[in-house]
Amino acid sequence: MDACHDILRTVFGYPAFRGPQQAIVEHVAEGGDALVLMPTGGGKSLCYQIPAIARQQAGHGITLVISPLIALMHDQVGALHEAGVSAAFLNSTLTGDEAYQIEQQLLRGEITLLYAAPERVSNARFLALLDSLFERGKLGLFAIDEAHCVSQWGHDFRPDYRNLTVLHERYPGIPRIALTATADDLTRADILERLQLEDARAFVSSFDRPNIRYTIVEKKDATLQLLRFIEREHEGEAGIVYCQSRKKVEDMAQTLVDAGIKALPYHAGLDQKVRQTNQDRFLREDGIVMVATIAFGMGIDKPDVRFVAHLDMPKNIEGYYQETGRAGRDGLPAQAWMGYGLQDVVNQRRMIDESPAGEEFKQVMRGKLDALLGLAEATDCRRVRLLSYFGEPSQPCGNCDNCINPPEIWDGTDAARKLLSTIYRIQQMSGISFGAGHLMDIVRGKKTDKVAQFGHDTLSTFGLGASFSETQLRGVLRQLIATGAVGLHKVAMDNGHSFDTLELTEGSRAVLKGEVQVGLRESASGPAERKSKRSA
Ligand code: ADP
Ligand code: ZN
Repeated sequence: MDACHDILRTVFGYPAFRGPQQAIVEHVAEGGDALVLMPTGGGKSLCYQIPAIARQQAGHGITLVISPLIALMHDQVGALHEAGVSAAFLNSTLTGDEAYQIEQQLLRGEITLLYAAPERVSNARFLALLDSLFERGKLGLFAIDEAHCVSQWGHDFRPDYRNLTVLHERYPGIPRIALTATADDLTRADILERLQLEDARAFVSSFDRPNIRYTIVEKKDATLQLLRFIEREHEGEAGIVYCQSRKKVEDMAQTLVDAGIKALPYHAGLDQKVRQTNQDRFLREDGIVMVATIAFGMGIDKPDVRFVAHLDMPKNIEGYYQETGRAGRDGLPAQAWMGYGLQDVVNQRRMIDESPAGEEFKQVMRGKLDALLGLAEATDCRRVRLLSYFGEPSQPCGNCDNCINPPEIWDGTDAARKLLSTIYRIQQMSGISFGAGHLMDIVRGKKTDKVAQFGHDTLSTFGLGASFSETQLRGVLRQLIATGAVGLHKVAMDNGHSFDTLELTEGSRAVLKGEVQVGLRESASGPAERKSKRSA
């Protein structure tokens, strides 16, 4: 359809469509339903904005865009105004009078794209407005952005998205387009089912971001590792550092500032004004490093973010991919760097175990965590792993740590069996279970006060693993916990703290019997450390 191409050129000023945009835009402009899976930065907005303009021009009326974030709506509407497109939003930031003015403009047919939050769709006044547009044949298209929010398997579940089926049921025949950058099979199936889009045509783009180099390192001194990474490879460049807790965000931002890096903190607990200022500075100034929780990032379109670093492991691959996808939107080389360690695995496992969710949900979450751990422990191409998680076959990329510096692999099965039988013997002898540090001391034959106090130096496995380094044993233990062959048991102490003790599980037996192999990377050392070894 030439009309769409004209709009691309005259309204948005781009000479050509990118990837699958043209097929999507034409399908939707002609009234088809669509599910669009495209990585962050792929150009999803035009996929509904151009059909919206085309359908308005053809007399079909307005496009309603459902978007989960107010900040995102503001940006989009602002950009559309700059392009000379009539757009507006209805959300909680408007006064009653402002909302009324917009409603009147809508009814007069003066607006092409209307942005609204999902909860609007449960609002009687809003539905009455849509009713009258529908009756006049002036509802042209529904666009559902960030459609993965409908799925509880995704990382951004928003219950309000579940009500969006109202649009389909109350206004049959109006075309719908749902868009997301999150697309594992489970989420995809959930979107289709929950939004009743089974008959929609699916447009699946490649999720590869070839300009992003993936590196995952084992944490030793995480702060030092991060500092080296930034100073050696990204001095003076813009980046995002993700941490799990608000406190850690603030501490890490300060640490970076002390090291002479222009860093700012961002998390939901900061004052709204501070958050806004920090975000604005990140967008406008050069070379700012934003240290943030995952509250930061959705809708941030900064093209020259040169690196995204994770100091704590995310929950799953979808989250990891969405967050790392914020690097290198301009197509120039960028890096995704992640540190992970035993404590991350313990924390994530515990969060799942202790969540109030049902057992089925927990099983799915554990599976997703295992997939991410599989990626972290992988000895082969990271990108092949990532893309295959999204159902996309590929070849080794030459642009990830494992491709550039293939790691050495060793068989950890023997060490795993020594750890497991020691856990068993401690339990037999003392009737209680202990934590990772104590276990390691026994297996490595270190006669600490605690070991002596409990007589654990008399266990037959004492010192049996003396040939293994502590790092190696930690790596093995991490895998055993990750795969459920070792269970965690939380013990509360009198002082209000708690710690995790280790226990055998159903899954232990297969490893003890030698039915399952435990393959490990040789003390995962990232590029930063290799360099330091060389210079030492
Ligand atoms: P997404 O929502 O998929 O993350 P956006 O819609 O924000 O991506 O688009 C990412 C960037 O690519 C934006 O700066 C946008 O203007 C640009 N872009 C999208 N489509 C095209 C195109 N056909 N030609 C040139 N630039 C494009
Ligand atoms: Zn690779």
